[in-house]
Amino acid sequence: SEDCVKINPDYIRSFLFESKLMPSTWIVIRIDGCHFHRFSDVHEFNKPNDKQALDLMNLCAVAVLEEFQDIIFSYGVSDEYSFVLKKNSQLYQRRASEIVSAIVSFFSSMYVMKWKDVFPMKELKYPPSFDGRAVCYPSAEILRDYLAWRQVDCHINNQYNTCFWSLVKSGKCKSEAQSCLKGTQAREKNELLLKEFGIDYNTLPLMFRQGSSVFRVKTEKTSILENSTSVGKAQTKIVTEYCNIIEQSFWEANPSILD
Ligand code: ATP
Ligand code: ATP
Ligand code: MG
Ligand code: MG
Ligand code: MG
Ligand code: MG
Repeated sequence: SEDCVKINPDYIRSFLFESKLMPSTWIVIRIDGCHFHRFSDVHEFNKPNDKQALDLMNLCAVAVLEEFQDIIFSYGVSDEYSFVLKKNSQLYQRRASEIVSAIVSFFSSMYVMKWKDVFPMKELKYPPSFDGRAVCYPSAEILRDYLAWRQVDCHINNQYNTCFWSLVKSGKCKSEAQSCLKGTQAREKNELLLKEFGIDYNTLPLMFRQGSSVFRVKTEKTSILENSTSVGKAQTKIVTEYCNIIEQSFWEANPSILD
């Protein structure tokens, strides 16, 4: 009708800002729980490491890899997960906002859906949320440096938190525990754990010390005898491991990840 407002769609679209991620680079999407300090308090996570909460993060990561075929590797610690997309991924034409939002919302939904599987006796008190960001790494070497940085962070935080919570559980208040640890080196922290609490840091679960890696591995070709359509085709499965991803040996043992 006469009253109908005429809007030129090209004019409206001209305001759209599209941030396309650099071609031929490894895209890393890192998601991180929003205010999980509070979330872990409200849901009474074991300190310093709640194994079930980490299992839940890992289950969500596996689901993300199942959903997004372009993800070749992922690494998780605490309330964060880094997802690495293959170098030439064309997911959402490499538009950052779409990739980040699709992965972060899928992960958050999964976290809520799988909560009961991991915590059958624990009520989810409020909806958890995650933020996400995208960064491009232009070489395999730099990508490995990024992952090493996250794993070093895992180790340093875990060592600190293990000491901190041992002190707190032994009766110190949080500020006392904090000042006890101020300025201490790694070796001193390990000594404190051993002498004061009888904890040999190196015997703590690998998942706590090294974080979790979820990735695809090639499986054996299926047997000709099996009556399956996938006979002869290389297959992949998704695995969860608590391994050292800083060392060269991991990447030598899994050369197909960054090929
Ligand atoms: P922000 O919103 O800025 O990310 P945050 O409160 O989530 O704030 P982080 O630096 O991301 O802060 O740290 C996450 C916190 O969540 C940890 O410090 C820890 O207290 C808690 N947390 C996460 N996962 C676990 C777990 N599996 N077991 C125990 N505590 C956990
Ligand atoms: P994409 O992943 O690219 O967004 P899509 O399938 O979500 O694909 P959209 O263009 O976003 O496609 O359209 C959403 C579709 O969802 C609609 O075409 C319609 O079929 C369906 N849909 C969404 N909301 C409703 C609703 N309230 N009632 C019925 N159908 C709906
Ligand atoms: Mg954050
Ligand atoms: Mg957080
Ligand atoms: Mg965090
Ligand atoms: Mg869409």
